[in-house]
Amino acid sequence: MAELSESRIYETGVAHGRALLPGVPSVWSYSSLKEVEICPRRYALSRADYPDLWDKHGYPRLPNPAAIKGDVVHGSLEIIVKALVKAGCLSTRAADAVAVLRELGGYSAVAQGVLDEQLARLDGNPRISEGRREQINRLLGDWVPEAREQIQTYLNRMELRPRAGVAKTGGSASPSQPDKRYPAREGDHPERELVAEDLRLTGRVDLVSVDSGGASITDFKTGAEDPSHHDQLRLYALLWREDGEVNPDGLAVTALVAAYPSHDVEVDVPSATELAELREEVVASTDHADSALLEELPLAVVGEHCASCNVRGLCDAYWEHGAPKASDVPDGGWYDLHGTVVREHGVKSWVFREAGSGRELLVRTPNSSFTLPTGEDVRILGAKRTIDPDEEETLIASVTSVSEILQVTK
Ligand code: SF4
Repeated sequence: MAELSESRIYETGVAHGRALLPGVPSVWSYSSLKEVEICPRRYALSRADYPDLWDKHGYPRLPNPAAIKGDVVHGSLEIIVKALVKAGCLSTRAADAVAVLRELGGYSAVAQGVLDEQLARLDGNPRISEGRREQINRLLGDWVPEAREQIQTYLNRMELRPRAGVAKTGGSASPSQPDKRYPAREGDHPERELVAEDLRLTGRVDLVSVDSGGASITDFKTGAEDPSHHDQLRLYALLWREDGEVNPDGLAVTALVAAYPSHDVEVDVPSATELAELREEVVASTDHADSALLEELPLAVVGEHCASCNVRGLCDAYWEHGAPKASDVPDGGWYDLHGTVVREHGVKSWVFREAGSGRELLVRTPNSSFTLPTGEDVRILGAKRTIDPDEEETLIASVTSVSEILQVTK
């Protein structure tokens, strides 16, 4: 995505953590505006470049199996629905759908293909150990049969509308041209990009179904119900109204549907007045997001959301005000700790002085090849608070295969 302002360097104070912060993007999406609203620093650090760490864009993400599962189901639905629409099928129960699915290799093959693509994205990620990578591959490989069922459940209740100009041979109205920025005529349009240029706003809708009465907009949701899904659909209604290329006739939105694995939820379509209000809100949000990102160092908003923040290891504000003290964490709880490695204590344990409280605790590592840098300041992400029955008074933090240790340089 192009940017409207210059990027600048920010030293996070973590080894290999020199960040090239992003400028203001030329267009915003629902999720990026939401992210800036929650914490501008998180948006900036997540999308910064880290040339001393790796050559890909953004801070490497730790793999989240639940999120990958969602992406696999979502990506598989996209492939299958596109193929069904292209062939003019009305549903997966139609006779001609069988041939389409056979050509794709079946549900499992589609899911496996999307999963392989997702796993390939983890290649070269400096935050994932080999052991963790193997664990994830195994876990998600075993889950493919379940993915197949989920995909089938979505598709079984989906009714499709043949697109105007689609032949049974699989042709389309504009076969030689990418159709995403062309008028959405009568029929189904999977993965449609909508753009409101005046608002600098864009969104990719999972399915737009158009008939003479207007457009029905469906978004596939693989997680639990959440009010933000309704907001997102309302924003899509605004985008549909504002996008003169995809909706040149100014057709109205007739339905907004959040499609969950087991059921659909219809969201009220906003009235003209509500859309006008929403438009004002979007203008205010983008203004706010632009200004937040133009700050030399975008503001850090510390809160409960920090616990799942992918860049918290780099965020000073979190370590000063958000990370819990070891003594406040219940036995068995997972937490992050910051301090100095004082000395080696045993083959797999280290004496550690917690920053802030100055209290000493024992850090246990999973094996003897796991070393901590003596005398250095480190941040440990995802340690487990444990109690040793033989040393009940001793605070112990156990490092596991999912923990991460960052060396502090300032
Ligand atoms: S840890 Fe919290 S304050 Fe820091 S970037 Fe993440 S969300 Fe923002």
